Amino acid sequence: MSPSMPRVHHMTCACIQRLRIHGKHLCCHVLLVETPRSGLVLVDTGLGTQDYADLTSRLTRSFVYGYARPKRDPALAAVNQIRALGFSPDDVRHIVMTHMDLDHVGGLSDFPKAKVHLHAAELKQCTERRTFRDKHRYLPAMWAHGLDTETYAGNGEAWFGFEAVRELRGLPPEILMIPLFGHTLGHCGVAIQSRDGWLLHAGDAYFDPREVKGEERRCAWQVGLFQALVQTDRSLRLHNQDRLRRLTADHPEIEVFCAHNPWEFEECQGRGVTRRTAASTGAAAALMMPDNSIQQTRWATLG
Ligand SMILES: [Zn+2]
Repeated sequence: MSPSMPRVHHMTCACIQRLRIHGKHLCCHVLLVETPRSGLVLVDTGLGTQDYADLTSRLTRSFVYGYARPKRDPALAAVNQIRALGFSPDDVRHIVMTHMDLDHVGGLSDFPKAKVHLHAAELKQCTERRTFRDKHRYLPAMWAHGLDTETYAGNGEAWFGFEAVRELRGLPPEILMIPLFGHTLGHCGVAIQSRDGWLLHAGDAYFDPREVKGEERRCAWQVGLFQALVQTDRSLRLHNQDRLRRLTADHPEIEVFCAHNPWEFEECQGRGVTRRTAASTGAAAALMMPDNSIQQTRWATLG
């Protein structure tokens, strides 16, 4: 563990009460990354203070009263959690977006000075809003304050079998954008080489861990149906799940998680506590290693 590497905090910035997986409500998994020279970095933002002040001020009625039913809890807004952790929201200088769906962008307006990094194809899709579905998933009111964007396209370097990875302008080389298209046209994962090893926030590339962890692809019916309804390119989405399955099999040392799975979120949080405790007490390094064999067995036994 090197103190010059980014340190990652896991937060959930929304509770989606209408959709469950294995008995738990979906979350919105957001990362707060402490970097040595680039200040604080957010990966996604969940819902923000404007949404929690009045859920229908910007979100669609179908999201608020229909398929999502987010819990109205201002404490979940990233800006409030950042204050609770003892940081200043002004120190959030960069936000890296997996994609621009309404449940990921609500917090952008709480950080109007931050640079927003996203894939060029995602910026195009969310500004053009060509289809009925795009008009309901991309809500310009959520970025009406004006975005200072950095976009990426084309080829980059390789990362554990994935291509077109970019180091992000103004950010440390330990933070990478990994194209995982399908859910939307410019949907990406975000990989971080943190003090505790590599992690990959896979955004909405999957919802049920059994889609990408374990030999056989399985998915709980409710989130399976939801993903099918909101996907932009089915074959690309499934292709990327195949690649993620190879990644989790070949590199169990990489912590892979998606945006909305509450079980993965709890594991990430719990592991962070274990690591910090082990580090502060000088306990065995083995305690600090993620145990993916236990994790995979657990996914396999879930209903
Ligand atoms: Zn989402």
